[in-house]
Amino acid sequence: MEKAILDRIKKDLLEKKAQLEAELGVFTEETTDDDYQAKFPEYGDESDENAQEVSQYSTDIEAERVLENTLKDINKALKAIEKNTYGRCKYCNQEIEEKRLLVRPFSSSCVKCKTKLQNGA
Ligand SMILES: [Zn+2]
Repeated sequence: MEKAILDRIKKDLLEKKAQLEAELGVFTEETTDDDYQAKFPEYGDESDENAQEVSQYSTDIEAERVLENTLKDINKALKAIEKNTYGRCKYCNQEIEEKRLLVRPFSSSCVKCKTKLQNGA
């Protein structure tokens, strides 16, 4: 992979990482490195408020899970760039298509393997 493209991907990953951390910062707290926990919202002590808190909390937990998983993928990709192993499919060890990486820079598998998995083969 060309260095210019790799630099662009790295910049992209760092921007996404900062964005995700900011989003997570709004409704979660970081418990350990890269591990976040949704904060229980406090609206008040009325029963409808309590119901709102519970419903918001389950939304937050789901959002936290999604954001955290993406963040982990990004961190993995950044580590791989440092180790010069970036851009290889974790299943077949072939290079991942550059086009795919530019669209989704934290992809860890190539289109072929991904399609195979999705088809349940
Ligand atoms: Zn593959």
